Amino acid sequence: MRKIIFYSLAVSGLWMTSCQTDQLQDEVEPSLTAHEDVVYKQLELEPISLNSINPTGRIQPQSDYRLILHKAEYIAASKSGHQGVTVIFNDRGNKQLQDDFSPFASLDGSSDISYYLDQTRPSSSISLARTESALQRVVTTWEGVQCSDLGLNRVSNIPIPIGIVAAIFGFPGEPVYVADVNHAGWMPSSFFENLAPGGSRFILGVTFTLLLVDGEGNFVDTNQDGKWDVGLREIYYNDNFSWSDDGSAIDVETVALHEMGHGLSQAHFGKGFVKKNGDIQFAPRAVMNATYSGIQTRISGTDLGGHCSNWANWPKK
Ligand SMILES: [Zn+2]
Repeated sequence: MRKIIFYSLAVSGLWMTSCQTDQLQDEVEPSLTAHEDVVYKQLELEPISLNSINPTGRIQPQSDYRLILHKAEYIAASKSGHQGVTVIFNDRGNKQLQDDFSPFASLDGSSDISYYLDQTRPSSSISLARTESALQRVVTTWEGVQCSDLGLNRVSNIPIPIGIVAAIFGFPGEPVYVADVNHAGWMPSSFFENLAPGGSRFILGVTFTLLLVDGEGNFVDTNQDGKWDVGLREIYYNDNFSWSDDGSAIDVETVALHEMGHGLSQAHFGKGFVKKNGDIQFAPRAVMNATYSGIQTRISGTDLGGHCSNWANWPKK
């Protein structure tokens, strides 16, 4: 933790303080896109060797792959004056491209997508059983999308916290490969302050993408789809917020559906408009909007389109 150095290269100021939204004269300010709101950070981290994370599978043809923490995408709370941004930790000097899984470079040796649901770091505001049910509904929802066949399969629980990113930030977490998409539990405020100043007050959940790099430290694209190959993703939820499954607080299923969307390679979507009262309204409203706007538990419209463009040919591509 202590050896990590952040370099802030560019920070969008528009959404960093809520007072700025009060100065808007119009009902809406239609100029906000996710791309304009990227916060760049560089993290001084060496790639992680695959030996050290104990992959059970194999990747071919090269065996000198390592993992590098590449980005974090977070969803912001409603009425926070923020919209979620992509935090880039390490761009490796390459043009920033999208990233997704490759059937030719799977850390568990399977083109099926595995997932993990942590049971060691529950929310302090909703029971583990209710959270488990919500997360299982999320998996069922993504699995139920007709255009894709992900082979989603759950990895059995282990009795200790997992998380390469948790370990990097100095929190309990085994820095091992567990599954392709890892819901790694609820984290305290201090975890989210690592992502943005005051982040514990507006980040609901975050998905980290760890990419594969080759022996020279370059990203790889083994299936030649124009996207960097993902090693694994880790999802964390903010325990500084109250969560529920009955509409009385932040809805677990809605946020988990969004984060699992990132887990399955979807980016944020939708244009945000700031209303006079400071709310951000998205058009179109979608699960993959960068700011929470109440319960959304169905995949349709742009969410469906984005998913199918990523996955319709899997595992061929
Ligand atoms: Zn997001």
